[in-house]
Amino acid sequence: MSASLDEFAERKLAALEQRNLRRTLIETERLGPVEVKRRGKRLISFSCNDYLNLSQHQAIKAAAVEATEKYGVGAGASRLVTGNHPLFAELEAKLAKLKGAEAACVFGSGYLANTGIIPALAGVDDMVVVDKLSHACIFAGAKLTGGALHVFRHNDTGHLGEILAAHRADHPRALIVTDSVFSMDGDLAPIGELADIAAEHDAWMMTDDAHSLGVVGGGRGSGTVNLPSPKRSSGFAQAGGGQGRVPLQMGTLSKAIGGYGGYLCASQSVIDLIRTRCRTLFYSTGLPPGVVAAAIAALELIESDPDYAALPLTKAKAFTALLGLSEAESPIVPIVLGDSERTLLASRLLEDEGFLVVAIRPPTVPDGKARLRVTFTAAHKDEDIARLAEIIRTRILEAADAEAPDAEASA
Ligand SMILES: *Cc1c(COP(=O)(O)O)cnc(C)c1O
Repeated sequence: MSASLDEFAERKLAALEQRNLRRTLIETERLGPVEVKRRGKRLISFSCNDYLNLSQHQAIKAAAVEATEKYGVGAGASRLVTGNHPLFAELEAKLAKLKGAEAACVFGSGYLANTGIIPALAGVDDMVVVDKLSHACIFAGAKLTGGALHVFRHNDTGHLGEILAAHRADHPRALIVTDSVFSMDGDLAPIGELADIAAEHDAWMMTDDAHSLGVVGGGRGSGTVNLPSPKRSSGFAQAGGGQGRVPLQMGTLSKAIGGYGGYLCASQSVIDLIRTRCRTLFYSTGLPPGVVAAAIAALELIESDPDYAALPLTKAKAFTALLGLSEAESPIVPIVLGDSERTLLASRLLEDEGFLVVAIRPPTVPDGKARLRVTFTAAHKDEDIARLAEIIRTRILEAADAEAPDAEASA
């Protein structure tokens, strides 16, 4: 029996290997704010999402240790049973305040949040419309609704409008979901325009602030900032107290916040519904107390020092200026190389030079769009950024330019 299973696994792996798509987990030890150890070598990481280096912050570690001593290692059960330790309420109040929302609900992870929230709000009769480059767990959540899933071209508000014009009338409810900062491209969603279209078609809008909380909009994340003045909107889009025009703002505590966990900020009634209906909330154990305490400490730090929160974007902008790329809009800068093998080689070259810049390949990004994904953190040194840019320019980008005519000549 198990022979056929092993044979299946081996065949599948061999096929992936052939396309340079086999993945392996490489042991990586964090040595400090930006340094890691991999394959026995110290590297400066430009691949962590720990944008504010808070996973390594002394006061935040201390908060986690203290809560662990006080409440124990694990929550012991789902929040619905006995796992709702006292720190949850404090964290949720903080998140709601930061986002200008009436209420918040904390989940085990961002992935659990998206795969729980979306099917709790939309069902088989409804439609969900998702930006093509949104995170995989948004698509996973949309599929769990059992309803109609439509995908609009990346940041193409015209296309979103067309989809809603064609299909909105067939469904009692419509939900639009997008990353606010795109995880593999680093660009921003046009939240204001999307909110206009949502209002026009009586659709609900949800943003995923995984890569914007803590590092965009003075630390508050996007979805609450730079919105044009509201047009008249109907129904749900008007509700939600002071939280502006995006009634559903989810995010993660696993990136700039430095720990782990997901959340939704919304109106009190929506949060009450989520707490009653969301399967990933109550069929999964509550976050450990130490993790919740760390998130509280991290949010306090971000609130008290917005200049610090601005550093990752400043560093990313310095990098794009050095390479003549379009100015960074977030701490994520993609260097799209196209081919998976070429991207792996480029990543190995940087590793030899003391930098960790992980190659991102399909299916995480579309076919032919493999890339180096460079992420910047507050603690990166300017001289390291300059050296990284120089190596990428001379040995990866210009090396490819020099190769291209040869390839044509020999074709
Ligand atoms: C990382 C990420 C998630 C998942 O969050 P986790 O807390 O790591 O599970 C969700 N959405 C986006 C856009 C992400 O980048």
